[in-house]
Amino acid sequence: MFGFYLVLKNYKNWLKTRLNRRQERAVVALIAFVFGLFLYKVIIELTVEEVTIFGFHDIVDLEKPSDRPPQRPVLDGDYTKQDLQLVLESLIQQNYWFLTTQELYDYFVKPDRLPIPPEHRGQKRVMISTDDGYTSAHFSLMEIAENLEQKYGKKIKIVWFVNPPFMGKEGLQLPHATCEELRDGFQKGYYDLQSHGSNHTNFSELSDDKLEIDLSKAQQILRDCTGNLDPDRTVARHVAYPFGDADDRVEKIVAKYHLSGYIYNNQMLKLDRLKSPYHIPRVSIHNRIPPKKLIWLAKGGLL
Ligand SMILES: [Zn+2]
Repeated sequence: MFGFYLVLKNYKNWLKTRLNRRQERAVVALIAFVFGLFLYKVIIELTVEEVTIFGFHDIVDLEKPSDRPPQRPVLDGDYTKQDLQLVLESLIQQNYWFLTTQELYDYFVKPDRLPIPPEHRGQKRVMISTDDGYTSAHFSLMEIAENLEQKYGKKIKIVWFVNPPFMGKEGLQLPHATCEELRDGFQKGYYDLQSHGSNHTNFSELSDDKLEIDLSKAQQILRDCTGNLDPDRTVARHVAYPFGDADDRVEKIVAKYHLSGYIYNNQMLKLDRLKSPYHIPRVSIHNRIPPKKLIWLAKGGLL
């Protein structure tokens, strides 16, 4: 601010030598107006409520030879358990609310939003999600969640967007967590299990009928898996689009099965600017983003 004042003062002195008094006043007024506009925009940006939704894929444990080369190739979408533990521990220390998909929907997204429960008022918010349901991600996340619960007495919530027919299957590159493993995380209160479609096909390439089959099959298999653990049917109410996007036709069909849909666009969710519950933005995370930057992103920093 002081810097700006000095610049303005120097500029004013310089103007005095070039312009008459009237012209000088007009130029200063114009500069003040532009600066005021800039300040107004900054204040608006800072006061818009935001939630950063992280989208991870596999979470590899550097201490396990099976998670490292040569036994397993390094993939761009990987994140290490060790770095993620640093991020999540920092977010717990800063008293973040780890949102589930249903909480985000109920308190921030649906038209008739519910009031935020007293225990969460004033808390910063974040959502941690992981796609594709990989085995290493399961073991890494369970260990992190158990460590943090022991240390801080708080449960973190991880949203899983899984392709339920792939549960327990080897996969093209990486093995997928089994139904029993996901049930374990759900039962212990760490996992929020949601859909990523059946076959990880780009929804916009499926006909209406095929898309309905893909969505309903995924929902049914995941609900059959959790069964008695989920009497309130919180599982598979929400979906993340494979390959991270959806058009209007896809959104209309998805709305028959799910309350909300998640995309990838590397943007924060700005709560008063969300056009549709079927277009919730996520930030795609890869192994070149250091933990410090993730913590900064959670605060609303830019990628
Ligand atoms: Zn995916």
